Amino acid sequence: MESLAIVGAGPAGVGAAYALRDADVDVTILEKSRGVCGRAATRRRNDCRYDHGANYVKADDRTDDLLRELGEDGLVDVELPVWTFTSDGAISAGDEERGDAHKWTWETGITQLAKRLLDRTDATVERETRVEAVERVETGGVDGVEGARDEWGWHLADTDGEAHGPFDALVLTPPAPQTAALLAATHWQSEHLPALREAVGSVSYRPTLSAILHYPFELDRPWYGLVNVDKDHDVGWLSREECKRGHVPDGETLLVVQLGAEWSDEHYDDPEGAVVDAAAAKAATLLDDDRLADPDWTDLQRWRYAQPNEGADADVLRRGEVDGLYFAGDWVVGEGRVHRALWNGYEVGERIGEGR
Ligand SMILES: Cc1cc2nc3c(=O)[nH]c(=O)nc-3n(C[C@H](O)[C@H](O)[C@H](O)COP(=O)(O)OP(=O)(O)OC[C@H]3O[C@@H](n4cnc5c(N)ncnc54)[C@H](O)[C@@H]3O)c2cc1C
Repeated sequence: MESLAIVGAGPAGVGAAYALRDADVDVTILEKSRGVCGRAATRRRNDCRYDHGANYVKADDRTDDLLRELGEDGLVDVELPVWTFTSDGAISAGDEERGDAHKWTWETGITQLAKRLLDRTDATVERETRVEAVERVETGGVDGVEGARDEWGWHLADTDGEAHGPFDALVLTPPAPQTAALLAATHWQSEHLPALREAVGSVSYRPTLSAILHYPFELDRPWYGLVNVDKDHDVGWLSREECKRGHVPDGETLLVVQLGAEWSDEHYDDPEGAVVDAAAAKAATLLDDDRLADPDWTDLQRWRYAQPNEGADADVLRRGEVDGLYFAGDWVVGEGRVHRALWNGYEVGERIGEGR
């Protein structure tokens, strides 16, 4: 049996494990957080559940099919549309394409995606395990002997000083800046390492501050979410979590306000109170409702690496595969979307599984 380590249990890492569910490969996922599904994250508080990273899985046909295959029970398609707004605060109905596409999440939150996929695999998930160093070392083979490549393995070290491995292959899925940090702490006698470090290091991400604002009253609007289309408003996205079945008790409102990249960057380290107060004031102005300036409870998530600004050179990224080093994630495809990361991981898993 071959062994594989996947760093990160986000959509890409889980997609890779899922692709190998029937292959003769022993899969271990090392995940720094307590939960799975990465930036597609859900939190529970005061009888509410909210997806405070990715809002929903925007689907294409094969994603629709996969999600349904994983079970219709608890699967939620957010029915109200996404409308748009511009920097002057003018709100208008969204285009047909946005309004018609499925917007998937689950009653218990978007993390169900990873949970359901992992349930169909034998992968071991080591949670609260942050990998900080990688090494490719000889594990006992004899140089020059045919098949000697099999005698080399990837060893990983985590921040608690634990060693993991050796593994025959390794998939790195953290956002590019975090993968770049791992490559900086990688010992591997390979001519490809400098080019890989450069390719991964060239991908930048933009931050997002996600403010969660709760109100003990209903808000009657014809839309689920609003997206800023000219990217020139302090608010990038605003949505109503109560439009997702099972997330918010009747008669209450839970707004997710994602501040735009520029505002988030400028205020990234501001105190939580200042950020949520500003988000509430901006929501009140945008929706022309003074009551929204005064939520009865709030939460804040700071996403340092929310969305990639570009992708990495795909040809360079594949050079490590000869030694069993693979990369997957939204930054590999150059688009911050759950389904793109998932299928990118899936394709990497298929390549690893070829012939096994
Ligand atoms: C605020 C926000 C809103 C978004 N909205 C949407 C949306 O509505 N629809 C949509 O499709 N997409 C959305 N996205 C983007 C989407 O969440 C990402 O594109 C997707 O999660 C990328 O998946 P991934 O597996 O590549 O990376 P991630 O989801 O980031 O997963 C990587 C995993 O690696 C782990 N990790 C990192 N470093 C280490 C380490 N050293 N050791 C171990 N584990 C490590 C992380 O904890 C994480 O679990 C949004 C993102 C944000 C932040």
